[in-house]
Amino acid sequence: MGNVLALCETSGASLRSNALSAITFARKAAELHGGEVILLLIGKGVSAATDEACKYASKVVVVENDGLEHCLAETYAPIVAKAAKDEGATIVCAAAGAVGKDILPRVAALLDSGMASDIADIEGKNTFKRSILAGNAFSRIEISSDIICVTARQSEFAPAEPLGAAGSSTTAEAGEINALGAEFVKLEGGGGGDRPDLNDASVVVSGGRGMGNGDNFAVLEKLASTLNAAMGASRAATDAGYVPADWQVGQTGKIVAPDLYIAVAISGAIQHLAGMKNSKTIVAINKDEEAPIFQIADYGLVAKWEDTVEALTAEIAKLKASQA
Ligand SMILES: Cc1cc2nc3c(=O)[nH]c(=O)nc-3n(C[C@H](O)[C@H](O)[C@H](O)COP(=O)(O)OP(=O)(O)OC[C@H]3O[C@@H](n4cnc5c(N)ncnc54)[C@H](O)[C@@H]3O)c2cc1C
Repeated sequence: MGNVLALCETSGASLRSNALSAITFARKAAELHGGEVILLLIGKGVSAATDEACKYASKVVVVENDGLEHCLAETYAPIVAKAAKDEGATIVCAAAGAVGKDILPRVAALLDSGMASDIADIEGKNTFKRSILAGNAFSRIEISSDIICVTARQSEFAPAEPLGAAGSSTTAEAGEINALGAEFVKLEGGGGGDRPDLNDASVVVSGGRGMGNGDNFAVLEKLASTLNAAMGASRAATDAGYVPADWQVGQTGKIVAPDLYIAVAISGAIQHLAGMKNSKTIVAINKDEEAPIFQIADYGLVAKWEDTVEALTAEIAKLKASQA
């Protein structure tokens, strides 16, 4: 029997949506390991999210320290590893985002444990399903160490629902904080403005190479603002320098599964689909009716973006105004 420790990312007094997916994974793992789910919050000001976290697990461990203002894997990993030992965890998990993918392999090294990265499911106590070949096949991996570190793909685990009764929280010391020579320099956020983070957004508007240049993305940004959506892009668009690299959706970019994904002037290469095909509703606008994106789109518009996107934005704005 062992517990499952889930490292949760927070935003102010809330858990980030990827934390809710990590909790869903953690609950499934805890059933197989016969233990309980324990949530771990680390950072400066993170205790603001304690009450919210207590809605999702019977126990929440909070490590609050001014020296942990910026998430550095070098400083966070030893805290996670210590909490894993203190809490009797046999699984240590986090969402497979930039933070989890950075920290968890270091935790695995510190614990001398096996690492299952970017997994799509847990099938047995130590057996995991992992998508390979741009989502066209699954591999099954088995880890034999006593403790297993896991990053769980957000798009494969629905956000957890709160439990009926709130759990309890406890604080833990950060211990000596040593960045091992690493230093936080600056965070260059994507999205920009008030837009939601690409990983958390319930609506994503993405543009591809067919947008022609970076300036033309302003049309998509207007649509995104009207829908309170995050901006995404294909790799062709980010490689061409049209938009920042951290907008990239796909196999080698971000994996998203929003309620609504609007793909504009994106052909639908398998590497792009690997990052968005689990979106609940997919809308595609493309001038080529043979574009592969239409094979997975719920709604498709064969048209040039120049002739359609502004009109679409205006209609949505009108509809919203009439509902206000
Ligand atoms: C190992 C590897 C990893 C990769 N990882 C990723 C990844 O993570 N994400 C990713 O996106 N790609 C990735 N790629 C690249 C991928 O294979 C494609 O090259 C890329 O997705 C194509 O981007 P695109 O659809 O924007 O461009 P294109 O394939 O060039 O498509 C542009 C589309 O725009 C349409 N269009 C043109 N003009 C207009 C217009 N005026 N109005 C409407 N439609 C128009 C065209 O009909 C066309 O369908 C990867 C490739 C490899 C080999």
